[in-house]
Amino acid sequence: MQQYALIGFPLGHSLSPQIHERLFALSGAQADYRLLTVSPEELPSRMPELRELSGFNVTIPHKQAVIPFLDGLSERARLYDAVNTVRAENGRLIGHNTDCDGFLYTMRSHKIALDTDVCVLGAGGVGRMFAIECARRGASVTVAARTQSLDKARALSVEMLGKTGRSARIADLAEIPGQFGLVINATPVGMYPHTEESPVPDAFLERTEAVFDCIYNPAETALLRAARALGKPCAGGMDMLVWQAAAAQQIWLGVQFAESDIQRVIAEMNGYLPHWEGAK
Ligand code: NAP
Repeated sequence: MQQYALIGFPLGHSLSPQIHERLFALSGAQADYRLLTVSPEELPSRMPELRELSGFNVTIPHKQAVIPFLDGLSERARLYDAVNTVRAENGRLIGHNTDCDGFLYTMRSHKIALDTDVCVLGAGGVGRMFAIECARRGASVTVAARTQSLDKARALSVEMLGKTGRSARIADLAEIPGQFGLVINATPVGMYPHTEESPVPDAFLERTEAVFDCIYNPAETALLRAARALGKPCAGGMDMLVWQAAAAQQIWLGVQFAESDIQRVIAEMNGYLPHWEGAK
């Protein structure tokens, strides 16, 4: 049986084992997936143990820290300088970034276009990936951050210019001017247990065509609820979480999943959320 794992610290509750076990069952893979709590100090000494696995996922705080211990990187992992999936290939560990695949598959499955005016709320880890990936696909990107983090947003714009040839407009989250084809929430605002909070006022949503909220708990955030009430196309973070896991299994096992199967897993995981320990 092939062995896979998720490393992170602190790991607490994670939906990854449930998602991967469902995907292994769909593909018929004989594989096991477990959680490995690895502190930053332990990472170097735990590498021999990780090399025994067929592959592993990587979450906070190791997405960049793991890179010096790997033998190679995919183009995307190099672009984002972040790894969330590692595959053992003939004794060599190769790092990949499937958060990006998860985002792109989600947009594709909801038929949400990226070559438009995109407003990314938040300039942290995942917001950085959304902004760069949208610019790579021809979007005109606005990065909105809270006042104290506008310098972070400016630094992201400089990075975007270097990596894509396109910089970003910068806006304060409190007052975002303009009309958008897509608004992406890359802040934790609205995440359980603060489920009534939204990163922008409802009235702002009248100026956008579509909304993606990368938060997966709850399945429908206050932001998505308000956008749906206005009849806007919407996508939620569970889609991205499941699609990035499917992309990891494509890398590990060479398996392809039917869109309908992935949609079923997303619905099952959304249904499971109220019973999930991490949501209590
Ligand atoms: P991060 O690196 O900590 O970045 C968070 C961003 O949100 C920062 O720009 C931060 O700004 C901003 N922010 C935090 N609290 C805020 C507030 N109260 N008001 C306004 N802005 C605020 O986190 P991340 O890793 O990018 O994750 C962000 C969210 O994405 C989380 O909810 C996470 O669960 C979700 N996520 C989902 C998936 C998925 O697969 N669905 C994958 C990755 C992440 P400051 O610099 O001012 O703090």
